[in-house]
Amino acid sequence: MEKIWLCLAHMSEAGEEMKWIKDAFDTNWVVPLGPNVNAFEGLLEEMVGEGRHVVALSSGTAAIHLALVNLGVTWGDEVICQSMTFSASANPIVYQGATPVFVDSEPLTWNMDPNLLEDAIKQSLARKGRVPKAIIPVHLYGMPAQMDAIMSIARRYGIAVIEDSAEAFGSRFCGKVAGTLGDFGIMSFNGNKMITTSGGGALVCPTLEAKQHTLFLATQAREPLPYYLHKEIGYNYRMSNICAGIGRGQMTVLPQHLAWHRHMCDVYAEALADIDGVTVHTNPDERFDSNYWLNTILIDPKLTGGVTPEHVRLRLETEGIESRPLWKPMHTQPVFCDAPALVNGVSERLFSQGLCLPSGPCVTDADARRITDTLRSCFNH
Ligand SMILES: *Cc1c(COP(=O)(O)O)cnc(C)c1O
Repeated sequence: MEKIWLCLAHMSEAGEEMKWIKDAFDTNWVVPLGPNVNAFEGLLEEMVGEGRHVVALSSGTAAIHLALVNLGVTWGDEVICQSMTFSASANPIVYQGATPVFVDSEPLTWNMDPNLLEDAIKQSLARKGRVPKAIIPVHLYGMPAQMDAIMSIARRYGIAVIEDSAEAFGSRFCGKVAGTLGDFGIMSFNGNKMITTSGGGALVCPTLEAKQHTLFLATQAREPLPYYLHKEIGYNYRMSNICAGIGRGQMTVLPQHLAWHRHMCDVYAEALADIDGVTVHTNPDERFDSNYWLNTILIDPKLTGGVTPEHVRLRLETEGIESRPLWKPMHTQPVFCDAPALVNGVSERLFSQGLCLPSGPCVTDADARRITDTLRSCFNH
């Protein structure tokens, strides 16, 4: 019995990734710049559209960090961040000496609740005498946040928005690609994401100027002189030409990857439709177009006759199927216990009821049947 994993990297069958890695070796571009990096950025700019500019970086975390640096976030500032997320959304706020203010989710998309966001801005104003420097909504598991409401509040108060699209590569909201709806957008190409460069990320910038400043910051903030002159603190955050070669190859299979993740959502939704207390997380209406990076379900033990997500997880594990609880909200993490938080109970309920299921192109239809049969048997179906 072969183990079924949540989301494995999946290389193109044509071997495009290897072709561009070999090209980097053959041309001796084994450095954090080069033709693969430029070509990968070109492909990303073509994909996101909206006239946005993209910088390839060493990770999604580095992209969030450089977005904050670009916006001048510094010691003593507050930055509003979605609580229901992976810690990498919030850590860079602390790198800058700023304070994260966590905002809970709404139940439709599981992302930042716009009403609580406005409350958080008002509280911050009362506490500090000024509005927060930035807002970081997250498109969790690929599901776009309610970006129309979030952007209209952000614009009203004059606050910049950094979209954490690390899990939402290829998702859309109202037809626009995730990462282009805010001021900055971040992408991740870590090994477990929609596409991979082994490790990597990108910052989607609103202007060419912002792209150029990001390139400068990401390459040690070196002034354009024959000797090394520095007027700003720099970072070593550029993507390598080898990693970008993998990215170029992965872009050729993006449409197939997206189609497969969405197919898996349909498979789960159909197989679990008749089970009381189990709901598959799907687009709330036609404005939302999730990439279904990880398909997720909620299990309400009050309606399942006491069957809990942990029962199901352990049962799947004995059948060689990996599953995992949802992200544990940041306002419940010991490391962020001192951060202000606006909480409504939604993210804690999601954490207690949710489960992530295997979703990538490595999950075959036969695997899917094994998973859904096991799931159904947990509920005596
Ligand atoms: C993966 C992830 C990141 C960080 O991306 P890395 O490339 O791993 O640094 C940030 N935010 C979210 C929501 C993520 O899932």
